[in-house]
Amino acid sequence: MLAHPTKALTDILDRFENVAFTCEYKYDGERAQIHMLEDGSMKIYSRNSENMSTKYPDVMERLIKFAKADTKSFVLDCEAVAWDQEQKCILPFQVLSTRKRKDVREEDIKVQVCIFAFDLLFLNGVSLLRNPLAKRRELLTEHFNEVDGEFTFAKSMNSTQIEDIQAFLDQSVADNCEGLMVKTLDGNEATYEPSKRSRNWLKVKKDYLSGVGDSIDLVVIGAYIGRGKRTGVYGGYLLACYDPDREEYQSICKIGTGFSEQDLEDHYKELKEHVIPESKSYYILGEGNKPDVWFAPVRVWEIKCADLSVSPVYKAAAGIVDSTKGISLRFPRFIRVREDKSPENATSSEQIAEMYTDQKLNTVKNDTSLGVDMDFDY
Ligand code: ATP
Repeated sequence: MLAHPTKALTDILDRFENVAFTCEYKYDGERAQIHMLEDGSMKIYSRNSENMSTKYPDVMERLIKFAKADTKSFVLDCEAVAWDQEQKCILPFQVLSTRKRKDVREEDIKVQVCIFAFDLLFLNGVSLLRNPLAKRRELLTEHFNEVDGEFTFAKSMNSTQIEDIQAFLDQSVADNCEGLMVKTLDGNEATYEPSKRSRNWLKVKKDYLSGVGDSIDLVVIGAYIGRGKRTGVYGGYLLACYDPDREEYQSICKIGTGFSEQDLEDHYKELKEHVIPESKSYYILGEGNKPDVWFAPVRVWEIKCADLSVSPVYKAAAGIVDSTKGISLRFPRFIRVREDKSPENATSSEQIAEMYTDQKLNTVKNDTSLGVDMDFDY
């Protein structure tokens, strides 16, 4: 089974609306499908069903201890990944590719591998293909033992919150993975479809956001009074980019994500000292995003987002990509305060327009390049 690519995290929510799904690390190694028959014989197959058993004599040797005593026959879907035994971490694919392909002698092995199991297709004489992933995963964890640095279940996380998915994606990259696999979990749409590039699996590559650029530096021009858990601090903020030609701060998004409790307190303490009674004439915003309090332009924050979109409400770069509409950020989240930047050095309207256009160009380029096999590496 293979996966479809996504061009943005928001695609996941579009694709899996009202469908239970799970995210797993996408390990950057080699597909290894491990078969054990009732008579105890074992084989490891590649993605193209090539017999790789002689490439992995070390894994073959250890296989028996990964299966629990009542696990008599199985087909496991796994990724074999180069593993640093001292640092206890995943090594890049390039390291794995230095391993000989055939007739490897155990004593010659320099690159150690860890097997990350993500699916169970057959167990004790019964095919599991028609079972949903949730069930297959349950049986997988029930019938196999994890062994540190040798055999591990693929790391997974279930959440429909874009911030959680983003954080998990960031974590997967920090742990030397390629990104995420997002899979349907329950019901008819969560069965296993051998040899197919299925809509049940989406892959999210770590560099999907590079078309947007790393991050954006924005000026805090207003805030909204906090409620519930955020009572006593500001609950969210209004951000703007800077147009040096017009000498204007143009609204670009509201933000309420990415703040720790400490951040919220610190921002409140600092910014309440900069409250001004009304908006400045050079603050440009549309209908519906008027904040509860205004600030003098003193603070620049570094922000990341899922993507940029044309907006009837926000005014960033209005007149550049559209005669009246501006650009806004989708799913913005706070990264840190930019102590080293003054508000006039914030990301400019022109830069925002460029980021928006680059992102569109990338999407069009990718959309037209290939059919189902396309990969959005941006
Ligand atoms: P492409 O087929 O586009 O060249 P690819 O080789 O990464 O890309 P995909 O279909 O995109 O193939 O992803 C599936 C592959 O990802 C699997 O063959 C497997 O080797 C690898 N993989 C790593 N981690 C996982 C996981 N958690 N679940 C499924 N596959 C995974």
